[in-house]
Amino acid sequence: MTSAAVVVCTWRGVRGEIPEETEAALTLGRKVSSALGADLHWLVVGTAPEADAEIAARQGVAALERIEDAKLAGGQADAFVEAMAQYCAQRSPRLLLFNQTFDTRLVAARLAGRLGSGAVMNGVDVEAEAGGRLRVTAAAYGGDTRVVYELAGEKSCIVALLANAVVPQPVEGAASSPTRSDVAVDLSGVEERIRVLEPARAEGLRLEDAEIIVAGGRGLSSPENYKLVEQLAEALGGMAGASRPLVDDGWVDSSRQVGLTGKITRPGLYIAAGISGASQHMAGCAAAKTIAAINTDPDAAIFRYARYGIVGDCLEILPELIRAAKQGR
Ligand SMILES: Cc1cc2nc3c(=O)[nH]c(=O)nc-3n(C[C@H](O)[C@H](O)[C@H](O)COP(=O)(O)OP(=O)(O)OC[C@H]3O[C@@H](n4cnc5c(N)ncnc54)[C@H](O)[C@@H]3O)c2cc1C
Repeated sequence: MTSAAVVVCTWRGVRGEIPEETEAALTLGRKVSSALGADLHWLVVGTAPEADAEIAARQGVAALERIEDAKLAGGQADAFVEAMAQYCAQRSPRLLLFNQTFDTRLVAARLAGRLGSGAVMNGVDVEAEAGGRLRVTAAAYGGDTRVVYELAGEKSCIVALLANAVVPQPVEGAASSPTRSDVAVDLSGVEERIRVLEPARAEGLRLEDAEIIVAGGRGLSSPENYKLVEQLAEALGGMAGASRPLVDDGWVDSSRQVGLTGKITRPGLYIAAGISGASQHMAGCAAAKTIAAINTDPDAAIFRYARYGIVGDCLEILPELIRAAKQGR
């Protein structure tokens, strides 16, 4: 039996993909495992990505492990919790690091309950101290505040890492040569309680990866005006985003929502049109290199974050920007 200090766990989940932020979690896992003086393991639940060996090598992974079982194919949280609980019973990892995805939200807290340990969501950093104590920094109160949790004891701790919280870095020096093994689990006792009939699938580029985002808010006044946001995004070669009220009111698809309960983005340029700058929205775009805002209210909170601000009506300014962007192409 191997004792794994830090395990980064990824799976295809109901959306059918290994999260692209896996390398960020592996980078953080490497830092923690090195501080603990132990190995970094990467556990893939279900089908592994094609490039798993290369990713593992450049991230300094010591052991690449896999759990495969038919019951894990349907995105059932019960099966994942059971599989992970059995894995932890076999390996006793000090830290289990997940990317915070839709599936992780279903699994992390329940797994912590099974293990009698703790789960920290919205994680942005983990530091390991002598003796194995972990200090986990997490975003709280809509992303406005950082909270530090100290996790002591010997049980396996669970941390879910926010997207874009860590920049993936390859290992310095020679790449590792990870061992590869299958982990046996018995899921025969897991009953099917939920069946995913048709997983939602987003087509094309993801907002989280966009270099330029033009986002619209309630200041657009009506759903028809959202096309101005889409047109400017297209003219700049970027993607269109939105604040949550536009999603709640059915103007746009939820895949466009930026913020705490939407996408966490890190573009080079974020143009916010008719968005007030509520903390829950800023949690999803404050890491942009440059924020430009258009708002009729000179005291709008968004101007505190913006490098460039235009006080004015976005319904007049957006068409001007679209024209200028098209001329500049
Ligand atoms: C638990 C929780 C989670 C949340 N998660 C999110 C999230 O993920 N993402 C998110 O966006 N929100 C989220 N919210 C909601 C958030 O608190 C705000 O209510 C929301 O972001 C406001 O959206 P808005 O800026 O479009 O609208 P408003 O706050 O109504 O702001 C509209 C802005 O447009 C300006 N304006 C009006 N007319 C014009 C015009 N013609 N031209 C230019 N400007 C104009 C106004 O001055 C105002 O500043 C969450 C809230 C909670 C409680």
